[in-house]
Amino acid sequence: MKNNIEGKVIAITGASSGLGEAAARELSSQGAIVVLGARRIERIRALVGEFVKNGRQALAIAADVTKYEQVKNLVDTAVKTYGRIDVMINNAGLMAQSPLERQKIDDWDKMIDINIKGVLYGIGAALQHMKEQRSGQIINVSSVVGHKVGANGVVYAATKHAVRAISEGLRLEVKPYNLRTTIISPGAVDTELTGGTTEPDMAAGYQQFYEMNAIPSDSFARVVAFAISQPEEVDINEILFRPTRQE
Ligand code: NDP
Repeated sequence: MKNNIEGKVIAITGASSGLGEAAARELSSQGAIVVLGARRIERIRALVGEFVKNGRQALAIAADVTKYEQVKNLVDTAVKTYGRIDVMINNAGLMAQSPLERQKIDDWDKMIDINIKGVLYGIGAALQHMKEQRSGQIINVSSVVGHKVGANGVVYAATKHAVRAISEGLRLEVKPYNLRTTIISPGAVDTELTGGTTEPDMAAGYQQFYEMNAIPSDSFARVVAFAISQPEEVDINEILFRPTRQE
């Protein structure tokens, strides 16, 4: 295992676009066996087709992260097929921005379900396997707004703060099992994320901000690969990165 990525079995939620897709491409190109989860199964099947054509092993599994049994199936299938799970990347997420006073309860519920419960479900599904293996790494995707809160995006920021709190608690709890935990907090990266905001004025504002500031998704892929590729005794706990031009 030259780069500490080659041959690793790596499950990624939200692998059908954006950061998850970019990470899958990078890790597969470095020799990982990637197990891709998302609801849009046709997209992840197409990615798997590409990777297999390049001589890699990969699997696509339909997985809605708001359903524990589907996340468990993603991880259990990886273990059944390849014998282990080395890295779990809890990446799936939704950003649906609006001021609190507009009471977009449905958006609040969705963000809490996907961004917080989805991460917990990913941890829950992977943990028992990794404890038995006495090795593994759980990578949770937070955000720059997991570090600071601005107006009009409070619930999304709260979910990303929660991801960091959960990850830090997890880090402390899994010490006895030799597991690594990593939080990655990106700034604006060019993906489909802005499409989650349904309020037209907010959506237009975010669209403009991203057009001016966002960097390509391979920035995230390189960060993920860096965290995984470290020697096993090195645990990169947290990485915060953003476009150079972003505040
Ligand atoms: P995208 O919208 O491009 O990708 C989101 C991914 O999440 C898709 O693959 C989507 O797959 C998946 N997803 C959404 N809901 C569910 C669900 N219920 N079950 C399973 N998968 C789901 O955005 P990004 O790639 O940018 O987002 C990835 C992560 O990065 C998110 O957690 C986001 O909050 C975080 N992030 C992104 C930043 C950015 O600027 N892009 C900045 C900071 C953090 P499908 O619809 O097929 O299920």
